[in-house]
Amino acid sequence: MLRFRVLLRTACRWSQRMGFRAEEGFHRYFQLHRIKVMGLIHPFCAIFLLCLIGFMFVYELCYVLPQISDPHGIWHKLGWFMGIYTVLNVLGNWCLGFMTNTSVDGLLLERQYPVAGEAHLWHYCSTCQKQVPPRSWHCRLCNICILKRDHHCTFFASCIGHTNQRYFLAFLFHLSFGSGQALVYNGILNWKNKAFLVTDPLLLISQDTTQDADFNWKYTIANLFKLNLFLFAAPLFMFVFQMVMVYRNSTCYKMLDRSYDVGWRRNFDMVLGKRRFWIFFLPTIASPLPTDGTQWLQKQTV
Ligand SMILES: [Zn+2]
Ligand SMILES: [Zn+2]
Repeated sequence: MLRFRVLLRTACRWSQRMGFRAEEGFHRYFQLHRIKVMGLIHPFCAIFLLCLIGFMFVYELCYVLPQISDPHGIWHKLGWFMGIYTVLNVLGNWCLGFMTNTSVDGLLLERQYPVAGEAHLWHYCSTCQKQVPPRSWHCRLCNICILKRDHHCTFFASCIGHTNQRYFLAFLFHLSFGSGQALVYNGILNWKNKAFLVTDPLLLISQDTTQDADFNWKYTIANLFKLNLFLFAAPLFMFVFQMVMVYRNSTCYKMLDRSYDVGWRRNFDMVLGKRRFWIFFLPTIASPLPTDGTQWLQKQTV
């Protein structure tokens, strides 16, 4: 018994040490080759997301929708219209968000220096070796300082910051909206075919597969419903989280900092711009922001 305990303790210590070493090794490798690593992760994430959107689009509109609605009826046409509109919004916001330069270097040259009396609000970035505006932070993956940096998004292959956060929000909104539509279609299909309660090892449900000739088909559509549920919940959670951050005028980088919270209307204006919630209808709607990202109202000054 004593021998077993000693053996167990040694095994634990050894695995712990190996775990630390692996983590340390990965961290060191990532630090040295982060640009190369991200050069692989970014296109992988983009291709993965494109394939997922493409698959869901074709599956829902070409396979599920004809089974739950009359192909010549108004609901079918409306389903196609909403599906195309949502996917175009997702792709449009994704592209514009990726192409929008939200770095300090994207500012006009004269705005890259503090105006008289504001130098004390700027801080020094040791990597860029220059003074940068308040709320801007260096991203080690983009290797540049980002205006009102929120976080680095691997799907956008860039940072989410002052000038492209509206696209990120609309992207998440339309991802959740599209997945929500698909969830309704999949829910109806599963309900009509009584496919919800087929075998599921996680829910401890088992069924005799020999009694139902359509078992494999039902099992597949039930699992696609579950995948859909996840694809709906993940962007919705992120969207709600982002909206809370915008409501408080905080960022993911400094979640608890509410020193820039100047009231929810102004806070939303700072991100969505002059046209506010209209930006959710089309990615190309122009909505000028009240600041270029170098000057920020603070709570105590309002
Ligand atoms: Zn920097
Ligand atoms: Zn970044």
